[in-house]
Amino acid sequence: MKDSEVISKIKALHHRRAANGEFRGLLREYYEKRLALRLGGEVEDALSSEDTIVIEASHGAQLGHLGIHRLYLKGAQLARRIGNAVMLFLVGDQYQPVMYPEINRVYFPKCGRRGTPFTLLIKKQDRRRPLYDIPPPSEKSILRLKNQMLGLFGPNFHHFCTLHGIDKKHADRSFFRENLEYVTEVLIESASKTENYADWVTRSQIVLLSRVFPELFERHLVFFPISMLRCLPEFPDLLEKVEEVNEHKLGVSRLQKLRGETPYLSRRIPLNLSPFWYHCPECSSRNRGLLSDGEASYTCTTCGAEVVQKIEEGFSNPDIVFSQILTPVAMGTTARIVGHVHPYAEVADGYLSKKLGIPPPERLLLGTFPVFHGLGDADGGDTRCSLIRALLEAEQGELRKLAYDDWSSCPEIYSYYYRYVSLKGEQP
Ligand SMILES: [Zn+2]
Repeated sequence: MKDSEVISKIKALHHRRAANGEFRGLLREYYEKRLALRLGGEVEDALSSEDTIVIEASHGAQLGHLGIHRLYLKGAQLARRIGNAVMLFLVGDQYQPVMYPEINRVYFPKCGRRGTPFTLLIKKQDRRRPLYDIPPPSEKSILRLKNQMLGLFGPNFHHFCTLHGIDKKHADRSFFRENLEYVTEVLIESASKTENYADWVTRSQIVLLSRVFPELFERHLVFFPISMLRCLPEFPDLLEKVEEVNEHKLGVSRLQKLRGETPYLSRRIPLNLSPFWYHCPECSSRNRGLLSDGEASYTCTTCGAEVVQKIEEGFSNPDIVFSQILTPVAMGTTARIVGHVHPYAEVADGYLSKKLGIPPPERLLLGTFPVFHGLGDADGGDTRCSLIRALLEAEQGELRKLAYDDWSSCPEIYSYYYRYVSLKGEQP
């Protein structure tokens, strides 16, 4: 699809609803209290208008992989072209580092080969805790990462110059070094202004990227954490329908199996199984619980603890099906930008249309991913380039391709250092 086709598709969706006041209040609270940032008044106004189209995407919090950042940047650029639209990015702040190792990794190549990722320290006792319950990295840990990145710059710079026949004396190393100073400063400042790891990631990415895309962040892009979905007033209403949702999950899974597809559920589940996750009070592992008489009970799948607690205590977030049923109801989501269509999509969309009579948001598949060409990359570039690395090496004009290259294209982002290559007549 081309940008113009995606825009016509979104504009043709008539089922708009204003995001409710409760959501806007929570959004403001999240920005002010958790991110120590100001929420643009224009975004808030836009969200209270029934004419505004809400486009949604979601992913686990991380500073990695440019493809993930492209999901919401591209969405925000389309929202800007549409005019009366806002891109809402749901941040997965509930993941545990054990199930989501990308969270503290920053990938760098090493002299034409794939390098070992640099990692920010997460203490052993925190690896099973949700990201919103883990402290941000320490200044020492961020400075260690900075030194690792600086240490690798030398060999990669040398490799690049040798490969392209560039005289090292004429190439300007300060571009990388100044960016490294700035990025480090933002990471440290964010760590001092946030209380948890996920908020540290999100605050850093908002500050770093709003310098590259001010026009998108001012008016067309907002972030909201998945752990706060439970605070929406629609959440308890939906909770009343747990058995119906579970029955629907089973019904759709059966059909998927009959069609020979991978089903959302591979086996039966009890109808009173919680559609959200509890963290075991003994080991913090996540479990689903059986709900009855206002209580949730489970045997922890990791440590075997027998746990009984109140339904509303100890859980972190609704599961993906429940979240995707909730957001169109509470936030008026009209379209979703996704990297893949998973089996749960049919479950969530079917429940919205068949049981709630709400048209499910259109899923727009953004299947192309950016390729980064920089110092130390092998021929063909890097398809897993980390956001931090791109910010160190690329000029803003190149980074803007993440939002401004057409939907159907695969953005090719070149390092600043390719300017020395093009001087020799080899155009990037
Ligand atoms: Zn446990």
